[in-house]
Amino acid sequence: MGEKLSQALLAGRLELPTCQRCSNVQYPPSEICRHCLSDALEVTACDPAGKVIACALVHYSLALDFDVNSPWPIASVKMNAGPVVFAHALEFLKRDTAVTLVPIIDSIGDGVFGALANVADRDLLQTRFNRTI
Ligand SMILES: [Zn+2]
Repeated sequence: MGEKLSQALLAGRLELPTCQRCSNVQYPPSEICRHCLSDALEVTACDPAGKVIACALVHYSLALDFDVNSPWPIASVKMNAGPVVFAHALEFLKRDTAVTLVPIIDSIGDGVFGALANVADRDLLQTRFNRTI
């Protein structure tokens, strides 16, 4: 299930495993529904809206791409669809800031979440990952 999620993010789609029995959206990905234990999960498009729970600025990292571009904002976001995800952000986001989750590709080519107060800034966020280390 995690592989399908990664493929969707890499293809620019925000999709998460969703239970076909109870409609519960799953994250992190799992093979069975955390709510009803059904194994009928499908990776489907979901509401990208959410609100920031907390945000941290990473000032030091052993990963060079994060260290060179520090401080690097990381936010926990409560999705309207239910799950809480960690997402890269352009700047520090205050608690309860309304954000849109967007798929971005990180420096090692993995699909990850971005959280933006203004969805028009998606390319700007993606650019942070395209910098030379
Ligand atoms: Zn379920």
